[in-house]
Amino acid sequence: MRVLMVASELFPLVKTGGLADVTGALPRALARRGHDVRVLVPGYRGVLEGAADHGRPLPLGNPLGVGQAELVPARLPGTDTKIYVLRCPALYDRAGGPYLDPHGADWTDNHLRFALLSRVAAIIAVSGTALGWGPQVVHAHDWQAGLVSAYLQLWGQARPATVLTVHNLHFAGRFHPMLMSAVGLPHSLFSAYGVELYGALSFLKAGLYFSDRITTVSPTYARQIQTSEYGEGLQGLLSARSPHLFGILNGIDEEVWNPAKDPALPAAYDVDHLEGKAKIKAALQAELGLPVNPRAPLFGMVTRLTHQKGVDLVLGNLHFLMGTGAQLAVLGSGAAAYELGLREAARHHPHNVAFRSGYDEPLSHRIMAGADFVLVPSRFEPCGLTQMYAQRYGSLPIVRHTGGLADTVLDSWAHPHVGTGFSFVDATDWAMGNAMWRGMQAFGTPRYAELQRRAMSRDFGWGPSAALYERVYAAALNGPVHLL
Ligand code: ADP
Repeated sequence: MRVLMVASELFPLVKTGGLADVTGALPRALARRGHDVRVLVPGYRGVLEGAADHGRPLPLGNPLGVGQAELVPARLPGTDTKIYVLRCPALYDRAGGPYLDPHGADWTDNHLRFALLSRVAAIIAVSGTALGWGPQVVHAHDWQAGLVSAYLQLWGQARPATVLTVHNLHFAGRFHPMLMSAVGLPHSLFSAYGVELYGALSFLKAGLYFSDRITTVSPTYARQIQTSEYGEGLQGLLSARSPHLFGILNGIDEEVWNPAKDPALPAAYDVDHLEGKAKIKAALQAELGLPVNPRAPLFGMVTRLTHQKGVDLVLGNLHFLMGTGAQLAVLGSGAAAYELGLREAARHHPHNVAFRSGYDEPLSHRIMAGADFVLVPSRFEPCGLTQMYAQRYGSLPIVRHTGGLADTVLDSWAHPHVGTGFSFVDATDWAMGNAMWRGMQAFGTPRYAELQRRAMSRDFGWGPSAALYERVYAAALNGPVHLL
């Protein structure tokens, strides 16, 4: 099958979270199954420089009236994946992140930045001949690509099948209804039977409403988002669309995340040779200014610092942790209050707490490898990747039992023969502390070594999930939804 993926992030060119890991790895997993998968990504500053093998640009004119655009065919570095970089200097060539300006505020023209991405995907979908290539399936990711299916339904011509994957329902891409015409949508679509969500224009709602099929990134999250607790106001629509909604667990890139050959680590190890892991722990403790002590259980966490990720539960357990002599290493950036809390904790308890603010890919690998436990206490978690990296690296995950965390970590007390970590249900300090305490009980015992081996022996590769995406593509091709 010929598939065009449309995404605002793509590892290793641009990443703020798990979305990039998925769009970087899934095309290769599908290519191994014989599919021709290409990725359309915005030409932010850095993406054009990082992309390999630039081909001749294809002029696109000025699709939304905000600036000239062109499509640059290229290759994702280190892979065979073909990509199309959407060059539009007026929208993308600037310092800052994909969604936020250098001061941390949303770009005021995000509606245009991502409407253009979707618009160009739709143009490729119906007139791919100019490229010499046209997709049979357009696979959009998250709200940034949500308008693709709306444009295609509007245009009403022969079109490829459309699939939308929701990586996080919390981000709905909401904008003022006055912006409808700026993004090329007629006002007739501003209704419950269209792109309207509680009075706002929502790019995600558009994708959920108009796509032939919807997927999200774990079976448990697919069920949870049909409830009022997790549905973010979209539970009604999602329940109505449940025959077309599938939960497919993310895999991990087992080449990028492989402790036997990870260039970010000072030593290599695998499930049969764990000596290297002890060296990495010592090096990590030294790097972070913590006492080098193999007997102190080291809890690691790599995350966006947001309410979703349960950072407050970690802060709420600081005194408990101090009392046990454990160590905590956090890498993350996000909400100022959490950054401040973690910085203060590290200042007051330099022997027990280390905090590194910012985004640091190599350090994230060293924490996954050097920690004894990895914390993922999320309030909700569509899939989550760090709990899988942790298991592959022999660091036991301590997770809240929700979403993809529930699908990838079985509690080793409740499931003594198959469990590989520790989980808790209530989003409270006490429940999380209890799971950490249970982990510490096992630490340094043969039980810990057994769980570690079991965790490292699990298969988190993309193979089974790629096969499921293939089935969803086939279903979308055979059963399109025509709404307009
Ligand atoms: P989300 O996509 O909600 O942020 P995931 O667990 O799905 O959460 O994916 C997060 C990804 O981003 C993982 O690959 C994780 O290692 C990475 N990550 C998060 N914060 C940082 C950081 N500060 N530095 C390096 N990598 C990070």
